[in-house]
Parts: sequence; C-alpha cells; structure tokens
Amino acid sequence: MSSDQHIKKAFELSAKFLAHKSYNSLTHAVLHYFCSLEGVSEAVSYEIFGDPNSETGLSIRRFPMTLDESYSDRNRDLMLKALPKSKGGVTCFKFKGDDYILLDITKDVLPRRIILIRGKVSSSDLILVEGVYGIYANQVSLLDSKERDNLTGLPNRQTMEFTLNDVVTFHRNNKLNPIKPSWMVVLDIDHFKKINDTFGHLYGDEVLLHFADLLKKSFRHTDFLFRYGGEEFVAIVNNANPEEAQQILERFHQAVQDYDFPSGKVTVSIGYTQVDPVTPPLLLFEHADRALYHAKHNGRNMIVNFEDMDSQVRVHEDDIELF
Ligand code: GH3
Ligand code: MG
Ligand code: MG
Repeated sequence: MSSDQHIKKAFELSAKFLAHKSYNSLTHAVLHYFCSLEGVSEAVSYEIFGDPNSETGLSIRRFPMTLDESYSDRNRDLMLKALPKSKGGVTCFKFKGDDYILLDITKDVLPRRIILIRGKVSSSDLILVEGVYGIYANQVSLLDSKERDNLTGLPNRQTMEFTLNDVVTFHRNNKLNPIKPSWMVVLDIDHFKKINDTFGHLYGDEVLLHFADLLKKSFRHTDFLFRYGGEEFVAIVNNANPEEAQQILERFHQAVQDYDFPSGKVTVSIGYTQVDPVTPPLLLFEHADRALYHAKHNGRNMIVNFEDMDSQVRVHEDDIELF
C-alpha cells in the first residue's frame, strides 16, 4: 500500500468507527475489522473486574456475550500473565508459542476493557491497529459516560433495553447448546419518598449509592445491573435455574434488610420473570413490573415471581401501571 492509500484507509476507518452510537455496535465493528486483517485468527473483547494480580480476584466477562462463566476461562491464564504487566495501550507478545496483540483501555472507563487479538500482523497493519486503538479508547470512554447513570455508575435504562435484547437473542440463537435460563428482575426501594422527605434529597442520593453498591456486591459478574430510573433498578440474572434465581434474590433481599443505610433501615420490593426467548423483551419487562406491583400491593418488602402469580391476578392487574 502506498502512503497515500494508507492515509485514505486510516481516514475511512476512523469515519466508520466514529459513526457508531453504542458501545456494543462499536465493539462489534472493531472486532470484525481486526478479524479481517491478514494473520489474525481471532479477536475478542473482555471486561475486567477485580484484581488481575490475584488469581482469585480476577473476573473476566467476554464480549460478544457469553452468559456462562466457564466461557471466560479459555484465555484466563494468558490474562493473568499479561494484565499485571500491561500499563494500557497496545502490546505485542507471545504466549505458549502463539502471537497475540493486547489492546488495553485503562483510562476513564470502568470496568477496564481489553481486546485480545490472536495472530501476527504486518508492521503497516500494526500502525492501523494502534490508530484504531486510539479511536476506540476515546469512543468507549465517551459512550460509557452516555450509557451510564451519573450517580451510581450503573448502566442506565437505555443500556438495559439494548442488553435485554442481546440476552433474549442469545437464548434464541443458543437452542442447540442451551445454558440455564436468565431472569428479568425489577427492584424498587420501599417508601423512598419518605427518606427524601425526612432527611432531604442528598441523604436520598446517599441511600441510592449504598443500594447500588449492595447490588454490585450481591450479584455475580455474569449478571447485569442497571439503574432504571429514580429508586428503581433492574437486574438480569443469567445462567440460573428457578431455585437458584429465587435464592440469589432472597440473598439480596436479606442483605438490604441487614444493611444499615445512612437513613436507617430500608426495604426493597422485587418482581421477576423468566426470560423466555419467544416473549418480546418489552413484555418481559412488563411481566416483572407487574410482579413488582403485586409485591407493592400486598405489603411491600417481598419477592414475587410473575410465573407464580395467580392468572386471575395477572389479568386483574393488567391495566395498572406502576411507573
Ligand atoms: P413505593 O414503596 O410505592 O415504591 O413508594 P416510594 O416512595 O418509594 O415511591 P414513589 O414513586 O412514590 O417515590 C419515589 C421518589 O424517588 C420520588 C422522587 O422524588 C425520588 N427520586 C427519584 N430520583 C431520585 C434521585 O435521583 N435522588 C433522590 N434523592 N430522590 C429521587
Ligand atoms: Mg419505591
Ligand atoms: Mg418507584
């Protein structure tokens, strides 16, 4: 390639990547591009949770989505070796005889993001990879602030809608190799208005922060958490059978009851439903929401599974909206 062609190619690539409006679609496009380079056999992206310096502390979530924790294990040894050494940026290295390129974004994003390319590229392609890394790192941090809630740092309602679609699609396409189901969970703090009215809005915000931290601690990194709005949160619990889903929610429900919030004791009502791949995502949310409404209606501070609700109650409460 002549240097003119190289410059043209670089501008074309940056225009293409800058056009993406969400983290998911941008990451898909970037991975697709890396896979198209000569010498590359695979490109995957990871979100890194915990401490890469300790074997037990490291959790990695693979992108494109895998909802089963064991999927992440394939490159685990390599990550444990490479991550503590990486200071961010682009690094080429060898591991067990194979060539890799590690793209590490540590600045302005949480969790840390990694793209791992298996293969060796020409020196001119490596210049392009480095250029794409620069654009990708900037865009990820920009999109991240758009896709997250400022107060709690959790992904926001819009991101929830994208993710729920992805989860439903995942189960739809994964029929031959099914994993345990996912669950759509809506959580709403009880009598939150009273906290604001009694202690003031700042205290209310503080309670929301503590609540979000409890969520992050109680759920697994393979689950997804969102702030839906106000004092309403959503969890998508993955890879759990019905008993496990119930246990996970009971554990969180209890953790809230046991916790000393800045305003004293707080309780939460929870509604949930199984993610059935043939039900449209919006309807799944509505079902979980209806179960939540049922919990509120029956005294709050409880967990209701939509599937356990009396069909008469389901119909009866049909036209009532909680939010
Ligand atoms: P219920 O048990 O039925 O859920 O009652 P509730 O008081 O929790 O619910 P309601 O919907 O009546 O009130 C929610 C309140 O949350 C009203 C709103 O002012 C407050 N709120 C929404 N967003 C924020 C926020 O970001 N910070 C604070 N401090 N308050 C918020
Ligand atoms: Mg509430
Ligand atoms: Mg509410």
